[in-house]
Amino acid sequence: MTPEPGAISDVSNATSVSSSKGPTTPAPPTRVVIAEDEAIIRLDLKELLEEEGYEVVGETGRGDEAVALVRERKPDLAILDIKMPGLDGLTAARHISADRLAAVVILTAFSQRDLVEQATESGAFAYLVKPFQKSDLIPAIEVALGRHAELLALEKDVGDLAERLEARKLIDRAKGRLMDEHGLDEQAAWRFLQTSAMSERVKVHHVAERVVAGDLTP
Ligand SMILES: [Mg+2]
Repeated sequence: MTPEPGAISDVSNATSVSSSKGPTTPAPPTRVVIAEDEAIIRLDLKELLEEEGYEVVGETGRGDEAVALVRERKPDLAILDIKMPGLDGLTAARHISADRLAAVVILTAFSQRDLVEQATESGAFAYLVKPFQKSDLIPAIEVALGRHAELLALEKDVGDLAERLEARKLIDRAKGRLMDEHGLDEQAAWRFLQTSAMSERVKVHHVAERVVAGDLTP
């Protein structure tokens, strides 16, 4: 990536100039730990993920092992079934999320979606109702990764816990407004807040405050 001193540094020529080294290294794959006690579903999930270019770095059928695996392998994402021996998926998710270890997607049955929906309102993770399609899985993963990144960014931005809770509320209200009134999806709403904050060199919740007040629109 770094041009050699004295080399022609036109980026557009990079592939032809560095043909001996091949094209630039692709981004490393998203690393995933999966925990699902039904072996067939776990296998399906693993295959789906690998087809989509994810790297499955650990798998288990137990909730307690899931938390240990996540601590050990440090994946970007954990996909957790809600009902598993050892520890249920929601409790495992709370452990993983509280320590900011990874993004989390919870797999749930249709009958339990209300419970999971309440739990995900905190914004920490995403959920997926079984049986799911590949077309449902990938967006849920994107939401979970987005929320995790958002959480980390917010903590970097706002140190004090009470202030962070206020910031979180403002950001959620701003995102809601951007989604309802401007038709953005959740990730686009967050990106709008984040890019506006970066370009104005202010904190995200200050931008959110203006969106809530109606002073800033996409
Ligand atoms: Mg289960």
